[in-house]
Amino acid sequence: MLYTSTRDNSIRVSAAQAIAQGISEEGGLFVPVELPRLDIDKISSMVPMSYIDRAKTVLKEFLTDFTEEELDYCVEGAYAQEKFSSNKIAPTVNISGNKNILELWHGPTCAFKDMALQLLPYLMTVSAKKTADGKTIVILVATSGDTGKAALEGFKNVDNTKILVFYPVDGVSPMQKLQMTTQEGDNVAVCAINGNFDDAQSAVKSIFTNADIKAQLAEKNMMFSSANSINWGRLVPQIVYYFSTYCDMIEMGKIKAGEPINVVVPTGNFGNILAGYYAKKMGLPIKKLVCASNSNNVLTDFLKTGTYDRNRAFYTTTSPSMDILISSNLERLLYHMSDENSALINDLMNSLSTDGKYSVSADMLAKIQEEFDAGYTSENSVDETIKTHFDSYNYLCDTHTAVAVKVYDEYVKATGDDIPTVIDSTASPYKFSASVLSAVLDGKKPELDEFEMVEELNRITGADVPKPLASLRDKKVRFTDVCNKEDMSQMVFKLLNL
Ligand SMILES: *Cc1c(COP(=O)(O)O)cnc(C)c1O
Repeated sequence: MLYTSTRDNSIRVSAAQAIAQGISEEGGLFVPVELPRLDIDKISSMVPMSYIDRAKTVLKEFLTDFTEEELDYCVEGAYAQEKFSSNKIAPTVNISGNKNILELWHGPTCAFKDMALQLLPYLMTVSAKKTADGKTIVILVATSGDTGKAALEGFKNVDNTKILVFYPVDGVSPMQKLQMTTQEGDNVAVCAINGNFDDAQSAVKSIFTNADIKAQLAEKNMMFSSANSINWGRLVPQIVYYFSTYCDMIEMGKIKAGEPINVVVPTGNFGNILAGYYAKKMGLPIKKLVCASNSNNVLTDFLKTGTYDRNRAFYTTTSPSMDILISSNLERLLYHMSDENSALINDLMNSLSTDGKYSVSADMLAKIQEEFDAGYTSENSVDETIKTHFDSYNYLCDTHTAVAVKVYDEYVKATGDDIPTVIDSTASPYKFSASVLSAVLDGKKPELDEFEMVEELNRITGADVPKPLASLRDKKVRFTDVCNKEDMSQMVFKLLNL
């Protein structure tokens, strides 16, 4: 199995190279040259398996340059039972009738990014051993909240890695801040910066590409890498849970092997839903992939009209992980839908960076619409959906999940297509307690601190509070550094003890 680049389809690299390198040299994203196929007998054989064995079955098709021992080491380390609050790792829960929810937030940081970021450090260190002479990998992350914490938990105490996370001092929620500043591990560091997320992000990018810093790191046998969602190593773990939920749907008696399901995904950077598309292309019986957005509905417009236009107002919503106007992983879909036309992808991505928009042909749009549907949800409907789903089904969902649930309800109304469906749930409701509590209380906003809100939400709803969030209250704050963005590179040296 080899990988090529969306912007130069003459390139061929191994999985280990794609993962260690992160992004292709000319700026394209790595994609498999050909997708493996799993037929329905093979899928059926995965029904009795644990999540770990299902993961090995899917991943070994993609990571053909990993030995069986290496793959076992990676997968067993990533999805070890004690790190997850469900013995199914990613359980599928029936809400009513054909409506089911795939809970992707039982990992150590209570957000779906754990599903990929628990595995990525293992894939990366094994890949580096194969391709980068065992250099120590230094992961730099600029975060607006969820990714930073999930990356810290994933890389903590992983041999031959160090991770440094920068967050905007006033730009993350109190719970997210505490999650990061109390982070344990010998190879981790966290620093706030005076500025917003974009400041942190652009400073990290300039450190990445600074030749001086690179050379100084190389002297110490270190190299930078990135944990963000354009890395193939973050995408491939996500393909697994689509196969896993399909197997669970069979096990639950909701479908027979071979019957189609629909999948609904609350979408930001288009990584999660793209993994669903790959699963479909590999033979998983998925009929439609429904892309759900909040008020930042650039993807809804694209999937309905074929024009992607980021020149629009940016809204700060209660589902912040979906507040995105440039969905990087869409590039991979465009590549596949254009019959691997990397010249076209270069053109489209150039228009995106110069004009902020591009359009695809009517043919290509028709092809995309065969696989995808799309919708978006206003802020009011998010609150209403949380409330009605709790009242009607005693199921508490977070704001991101509520966006998807509402878009799904509208999809069924509009199309009548109510076959068995799985809706991805991407965060624990307790990670967004303030919004969820206020939704459950019909808009009232009680004056409580973060932990009191968690308690109140638990008292009202009875939903279990994830241990990693509850235990934050007693954890010691380890990281209090704040720096200016001009001083971030010095901070990197300080944190690395160089
Ligand atoms: C990152 C994230 C998303 C968006 O996922 P993409 O793969 O970027 O589309 C949705 N919900 C939550 C809670 C997230 O953290």
